[in-house]
Amino acid sequence: MRCPYCGSLETQVKDSRPTEDSSSIRRRRVCPDCAGRFTTFERVQLRELTVVKKSGRRVPFEREKLMRSLDIALRKRPVDPERVERMVNGIVRQLESSGESEIASERIGQLVMKGLRTLDGVAYVRFASVYRNFTEASDFGAIVDELVGEDVEPAGVDAAEASDGT
Ligand SMILES: [Zn+2]
Repeated sequence: MRCPYCGSLETQVKDSRPTEDSSSIRRRRVCPDCAGRFTTFERVQLRELTVVKKSGRRVPFEREKLMRSLDIALRKRPVDPERVERMVNGIVRQLESSGESEIASERIGQLVMKGLRTLDGVAYVRFASVYRNFTEASDFGAIVDELVGEDVEPAGVDAAEASDGT
């Protein structure tokens, strides 16, 4: 596993244990080159999913893209990474168990908003404000670009949506 900080390929596993719901293995890793620490998750993949965009274009579903957009929405929010992991697991399981291998991009966006709503009000507003103006909801890379481009500050949205945040 490549170090996300310095790119070294020599990272070592320090600790390995199942997550609370036993759906994943969580590994704490350390990089001997830069001493950076990070966490990885190992999980079951039941089936390959394809995202169908509004344009009709089909792209493989990528969990990592979804995680990246969530990382941006949750930036500096006090949310346990395991809760985010469980939320994404839940979304992916719902998609995998739907019986369809092709999933409309809108469906994914709706599931993410539903999950974020209970996870963190501020992150929900950040994600929703981008998603609602977005023509291709499945293009999480573009969502990330928009979020990065915007100056997203929680101050203005706290009162509006964060009342049920944890
Ligand atoms: Zn490193």
